[in-house]
Amino acid sequence: MVNDLHDGILAIDTHVDIPWPEGPSPFEDGPRCVDLPKLKQGGIAAVCFMAYIPQGHRDATGHLAAAGRTRAMLNTIHAMAPADGSGGVLTRTADEIEAAFAAGKPGIIPAIENGYGIGRDLTLLDEFADMGVRYITLTHNGHNEIGDAAIPLRNLGDDDICFGGLSDFGQSVVDRMNERGVMVDISHTAKSTMMQAVKRSRAPVLASHSCMRALCDHKRNLDDEQLELLAATGGLVQITMVSNFLKARARTNDVTVADIADHIDYAVKRMGIDHVGIGTDFDGGGGVKGFMHIGQAANLTVELGRRGYGRAEVEKIWGGNVLRLLRQTEQVGAALSSPAL
Ligand SMILES: [Zn+2]
Repeated sequence: MVNDLHDGILAIDTHVDIPWPEGPSPFEDGPRCVDLPKLKQGGIAAVCFMAYIPQGHRDATGHLAAAGRTRAMLNTIHAMAPADGSGGVLTRTADEIEAAFAAGKPGIIPAIENGYGIGRDLTLLDEFADMGVRYITLTHNGHNEIGDAAIPLRNLGDDDICFGGLSDFGQSVVDRMNERGVMVDISHTAKSTMMQAVKRSRAPVLASHSCMRALCDHKRNLDDEQLELLAATGGLVQITMVSNFLKARARTNDVTVADIADHIDYAVKRMGIDHVGIGTDFDGGGGVKGFMHIGQAANLTVELGRRGYGRAEVEKIWGGNVLRLLRQTEQVGAALSSPAL
């Protein structure tokens, strides 16, 4: 079901989880919030699917397991784009996303949630970039070797502060991501890590699934100082559908698309229309009344239309901005890896 404002836009959802270790087929309309038939139903062109790695111990055994899981999950994401063309298309660049959209095929964009997946090894970053990974969320909940997280994990022995932001290794990770044209995702990181990563990165930075701290005081949300730095550097915040990031202590049924639109309005007012997008976190905690699965994406667009957003603005929010950021990141990577003239 689509409406005029939503119909035919190149829409990208920048944060969706996959079932692990196994789950329903992504090729059939099943119990998940996101599968390939529901993408069509919701008028969504491409999705960043996550190899999500829960934080574990920061030792050789933990890092080996995390790398193995990352590799296996990326292979599962690749399998959504079978060679016979019966599913989605693996889209590694902004151009490939546009080509898949033109061909009417869902774009599958691999990404990693938690830099724990590379442990302390930049060659793993290279391996995963070669597998088409377009962003890495620097941390999840719990500090890792890259830097401090917004939410420390006491059961792993975390203090509030570990490095005071990005570690030395974390700085080299940001540098390598820039060289490889991989976007730096600062959702889940501590504010210190975020501010340092934005300043360090030579490409603008992404918050793949975060909301506004001014509207909902949750540690996972971004405050005004963070928004201003992101906007000033060309970065993006992708508003997410997690109820208790949208409204304090709310549950799914207390929250509607109007609450999502409130966060979008706030971000647009603080940052400008070029710095805001959507990352649902479907199948990872996302979902509100009226937008419980990706097939209902047009309901959010209807609400945006009601608030006065026009076609060009909706196109930017739903995908144009993240396509621009992907392209810029690709260009930074190409410039950094070509020999100096
Ligand atoms: Zn997350």
